[in-house]
Amino acid sequence: MQTTPDKIPPSPLVLANSVDEALTVLKSAGPNSVLLAGGTWLMRAKARQEATDQVFVSLSRIEELQTIEINEDAINLGSMVTHDSLSKALVGMQDPAGLFQAANKSANPAVRRMATIGGNICTTVFPAADLLPMLLSLNASVKLKSLSGSRNIPLADFVATGRQSTHDELLTNIHIPRCGHFSSHSRMLMRKAGEYPVANLSLCAGFDPTGIVNYARIVVGSVETRPKQWIGLERAILGARIAATDVKALAKSYVDEFDARDDTDAPGWYRKRMLPVLAARAFKEVASEYDRSTR
Ligand SMILES: Cc1cc2nc3c(=O)[nH]c(=O)nc-3n(C[C@H](O)[C@H](O)[C@H](O)COP(=O)(O)OP(=O)(O)OC[C@H]3O[C@@H](n4cnc5c(N)ncnc54)[C@H](O)[C@@H]3O)c2cc1C
Repeated sequence: MQTTPDKIPPSPLVLANSVDEALTVLKSAGPNSVLLAGGTWLMRAKARQEATDQVFVSLSRIEELQTIEINEDAINLGSMVTHDSLSKALVGMQDPAGLFQAANKSANPAVRRMATIGGNICTTVFPAADLLPMLLSLNASVKLKSLSGSRNIPLADFVATGRQSTHDELLTNIHIPRCGHFSSHSRMLMRKAGEYPVANLSLCAGFDPTGIVNYARIVVGSVETRPKQWIGLERAILGARIAATDVKALAKSYVDEFDARDDTDAPGWYRKRMLPVLAARAFKEVASEYDRSTR
């Protein structure tokens, strides 16, 4: 005789059809549930010895999270936009060129087709994220939605407060103001492609009509556990003409702003040593883009 279990276990995968449905499932399933975006971080949970017996609430069916809107004032992205579709949408654009590079160079093609911008921002324990520092240097903000409403906050504040999106809230959109500046994303790998960067550097820079740097926002990723603005170098570079400046030497004076982490990929001292190289590369690139734009 067949017996019916007293309690049917919840399905480990729920395909939500709307943001509200995802939030409702999260609320009812409680702490044992987790949002699933591209799955490229969550799929390695076992390797990190993390729990996998959760209810996964997939956002993949929610069309409104996959939109890309680009206009003169801003770029608006749904949180489920993949690295691959983002890079394709930004090809050839000036001010978000660094975001194109971050999306186009991270990981490998198969991962880029799955990994999402929302997952990149919300993976709190992933120091080597590439999109996150670039979005910070472009002054992005994010929209967080709960069942009772939504709020917009600067991405920098979201990161500073630990990105602890509770089970009441999920990240739906990313807003990037168009600044008319130039941007670049450089990354340093121990070997070749397909691995996490040991250090990365995102730069957004502006020039006055004579080619002097009049704006710089530099964010370094993968060196500390969270991306960090390189304030000393930002200040020091203002007023410089890049072609006449030894950016590498200048940057060396400010590397001690970082308390670099050691792990099996690289020791902290090596990560710090790479920063002046990345800074010089990034400024060379934006300066040459500036020159090209003036021809
Ligand atoms: C081999 C390999 C190498 C990689 N190398 C790089 C690299 O060099 N640089 C790089 O940037 N990326 C790299 N990635 C991809 C990286 O995993 C993703 O960029 C990202 O961190 C996770 O995105 P995801 O969409 O897969 O998120 P998921 O794995 O689905 O989720 C990650 C976390 O974010 C939460 N989350 C996801 N979306 C939301 C949301 N909308 N609101 C709230 N919480 C949310 C989830 O609940 C989960 O906790 C690599 C991946 C692999 C497998």
